[in-house]
Amino acid sequence: TQAVRHFLSRIQEQSSLNAFVEVFADEALARAESLDGAEKKGRLHGVVIGLKDNICYKGHKLSAASGILQNFTSLYSSTAVERLLQEGAIIIGRQNCDEFGMGSTNENSFYGPVINPNNAAHVPGGSSGGSAAAVKAGLCMVSLGSDTGGSVRLPADFCGVVGIKPSYGSVSRHGLIAYASSFDVIGVLANTARDASIILEVIAGPDDFDSTALTQTPDWSSVQSESKKYRIAYFPEWVNHPSIDPEISEAIQQRLQKLKEEGHTIEAVTFALTDYIVPTYYILTTAEASSNLSRYDGVRYGPKQDGAVQNLAAFYQQARKIGFGSEVKRRIMLGAFVLSAGYYDAYFTKAQQVRRLLQQQTSLIFNDFDFILAPNAPSVAYKLGEKNEDKVAMYMGDVFTVFANLTGVPAVSLPLFKHSSNLPFGLQVLSSPQNEVCLHRFSHQLM
Ligand code: GLN
Repeated sequence: TQAVRHFLSRIQEQSSLNAFVEVFADEALARAESLDGAEKKGRLHGVVIGLKDNICYKGHKLSAASGILQNFTSLYSSTAVERLLQEGAIIIGRQNCDEFGMGSTNENSFYGPVINPNNAAHVPGGSSGGSAAAVKAGLCMVSLGSDTGGSVRLPADFCGVVGIKPSYGSVSRHGLIAYASSFDVIGVLANTARDASIILEVIAGPDDFDSTALTQTPDWSSVQSESKKYRIAYFPEWVNHPSIDPEISEAIQQRLQKLKEEGHTIEAVTFALTDYIVPTYYILTTAEASSNLSRYDGVRYGPKQDGAVQNLAAFYQQARKIGFGSEVKRRIMLGAFVLSAGYYDAYFTKAQQVRRLLQQQTSLIFNDFDFILAPNAPSVAYKLGEKNEDKVAMYMGDVFTVFANLTGVPAVSLPLFKHSSNLPFGLQVLSSPQNEVCLHRFSHQLM
């Protein structure tokens, strides 16, 4: 109870960050009290956790930061939450994010933007901005977020915490509100790589409720074994990307040099498909989103409509018009367009083919290397409003993160650097899905 009280008062003190959309204060305290008397202690006994507002927790409200889900209450808990609770964790509240996970700054939220705890003029990154800000500001011990195209790693990078995007399927999607189903995965934000690994170990693994969940549980016991010399690749096209801040490029190169001196093998690998990454991601995710979001009709929950409605179609139209924010509407339209009869082959099919190429090239790289080291983003946290005029510029900022979701590989963001502006930034480390446990071990080594 002491820990819960501490975090509750921190949340209140830091309410201007807008990191939480709802705090389960009484319930968290009651649970802490009942855990105090518990005989058997779980692996996460008393660990205080925040949930991104797109992860189901039975009997609690959930909105994906969207007006279309107003007054919706989860009928069941996600598999990840079930497993946290079984191990004695305490859920303290739900955290602000971009609507349906669509955004890189947490400015596309029904509840308004989240503020970066390092500097109030800057965004925390998105879409799991509330989850990253909460860990950074000490409002909870760890957070669960989701990563469809960097939504755990980018806010981790902008706020200065650890972010883990597991392999696709490592963590069940049961009870995660869908954005782009072949990309979505639940991830962890924490202060240390060790904390994040412990949480992942609990929530990962096979699940009967998700047929795309992996069928085998990795052997996490080897996470802590001692240091080894690794074969590490980096892409010069990324490290010297035209959009990258020279300070970020420099920091990554210095770190690579240091690893070389420590005896690891470091090699430059050409990645010629770099320019195709962002377009492929936005074609495929908007296509999947337009299909996933077609279920929101405003009938059982959603915005209140005044006055009489003409007919059912008009009712749906009005609900979606007032319920969805502008970025979500933009993506639904883009997705419907790339899937439309005349353009399907030119856009959707092409993008699927590029995705396959990216996957093939990536698995070839991981035949020769244990890890790829990369930046997370071309710049440090943007100023609030900075990218709002130019959506394409905003999308381009995702170039280094969406790659892992296109290919399904695990990736972590480690808060290793500080920019001259005093804002933090991180190092991204990727591995093959088979090497996920090793990726965690290496992350501890790097911190
Ligand atoms: N910036 C990405 C997008 O807007 C983030 C997606 C995510 O990981 N949820 O699509």
